[in-house]
Amino acid sequence: DLAIYNCQRFGTYEALVYEDPQLAEPRRYTNVEIAREAVQLAAGLRALGIETGDRVMVMIPNCPEVIISYQAIARAGAIVIPVLPLLKPPEVQYIAQNSGARLLITSPLLLPLHGTTLAQVPALEQIVCVGDLATAGPLGSLPEGRPQVHTYQDVLARGAEYADYYLSDLPGINLTPDDTAVILYTSGTTGRPKGVMLSHRNLVANAVSGRGVGGDEDPSAAESQGETHLAILPLAHAFGLVASNVAYLNGARIVMLPRFDTTAVFSAIERYRVSGFAGVPAMFVALLHSPDADRYDTSSLQYCVSGSAPLPVAVLEAFEQKFGCRILEGYGLSEATAALTGHNREMPRKPGSVGKPLPGVEIRIVDENDQDVPVGEVGEIIARGPNVMQQYYNLPEETAAAMRNGWLHTGDMGRMDEDGYIYVVERKKDLIIRGGFNIYPRDVEEVLNRHPAVIESAVVGIPSERMGEEVKAFVVTREPVDAEALKAFCREYLANYKTPSEIEFVDSLPRNLVGKIDKKELRRRYVQQPS
Ligand code: ATP
Repeated sequence: DLAIYNCQRFGTYEALVYEDPQLAEPRRYTNVEIAREAVQLAAGLRALGIETGDRVMVMIPNCPEVIISYQAIARAGAIVIPVLPLLKPPEVQYIAQNSGARLLITSPLLLPLHGTTLAQVPALEQIVCVGDLATAGPLGSLPEGRPQVHTYQDVLARGAEYADYYLSDLPGINLTPDDTAVILYTSGTTGRPKGVMLSHRNLVANAVSGRGVGGDEDPSAAESQGETHLAILPLAHAFGLVASNVAYLNGARIVMLPRFDTTAVFSAIERYRVSGFAGVPAMFVALLHSPDADRYDTSSLQYCVSGSAPLPVAVLEAFEQKFGCRILEGYGLSEATAALTGHNREMPRKPGSVGKPLPGVEIRIVDENDQDVPVGEVGEIIARGPNVMQQYYNLPEETAAAMRNGWLHTGDMGRMDEDGYIYVVERKKDLIIRGGFNIYPRDVEEVLNRHPAVIESAVVGIPSERMGEEVKAFVVTREPVDAEALKAFCREYLANYKTPSEIEFVDSLPRNLVGKIDKKELRRRYVQQPS
């Protein structure tokens, strides 16, 4: 149990500081305070009838209660279903129905929005509301008494007598490492969201190996003990969840903000002398171009981790130069708990690489017949290791398609060099085939992003009668630039067939809830309004 382990090692250290602009003072917790509240909440959930193996949804914007709820649900023997708070009511309803969750922990701000749809989910019997219920309004016209609504404080009070169990299991709860801890719903860019079932072993393995890629697996050799990390990724997403677990396991102090806001991030870095954070490329781009970048002291920053989507080399270089802070890029997916590869602080870096497999993780690059391709050649990235999921929830066919011969097939194209560094080339489905030639959008984006006027870009294939597909670039610039000049710039570095035939200038790129560029949306826009 991570929580017990942490209490024994870092019990009295300050573990968490929550900075909400609406609060006069930040909220501060030691490891023991978190664990005591979690075990009380666990006992309270049991008192509400939650049993071993039940599913409990948690949908709250980042705050201490998210971490406490995750721990509490695990300690109650139940399974956490993290839900991104920005999902729309039908999406949340789908997850509630599909998971068969019996209880939801949420906030009064979200309840009015989702009450009506959630009331239609018969299995969902109870809702626990974190915060002042009086601010919840008419609870989204929840019918009288179903689901039953409790306040977080009430549930804590029900478990008050168990607070001293924080260093041991609650009576009657006997979990094994292979029991399911979390069901993470994928974002659904490839179809209906799928529930990725992760065991306690999966979570601990990824947290342990994430703390020192390629290094000593003994957690006492933690890289970042005593440091301060900023938590700005949503805790309901695999990357945010594991990044916080890594910091927690390392004994680092976590400063948490309710949402990503560049000014709040810079201000927190200055005030808490933050040494690093985990972020998605969109965050590094936003921080780099923020007018606040020069107004705050960011000299404490040392190491950041980027993942979830490709980090353009131009962004990595500019960020490192501006802030004197290294970015360690990693790669992974929910089906691998979060991370499959990464960099540790000592490893030499190669531009564009996502580092090496984490300790305990094996990676192969294979062709369509699952045969290894020669070193340096592109194929599908497949992986196995203690962090790879158990299965998709109630989807045996999808599980069988993804897990073949014990290897997780990621659907990502990549290559491995002679030193074992991995390069993610493209998602299989984003590959462009123009007149029979394969084009990796990433190659084109990297060149566009090097142009001094370009802030960011996204390249997709659009239908073409003559060539099958054509290359189209959507580009955000800091100053006007001529499309033909940009194409000429591309031709200096890229073969003519890879150079975009169309360039569209846009104010911003569409992104999904975790900040990834939404290429499906870009292609959809094109089909609706061909230029
Ligand atoms: P869905 O499975 O519903 O389509 P998703 O693929 O966005 O959603 P996640 O598990 O959040 O689900 O994301 C994993 C994917 O993100 C990987 O398969 C890969 O395509 C991409 N990815 C993650 N890290 C990197 C990286 N460093 N470079 C390039 N791509 C990355």
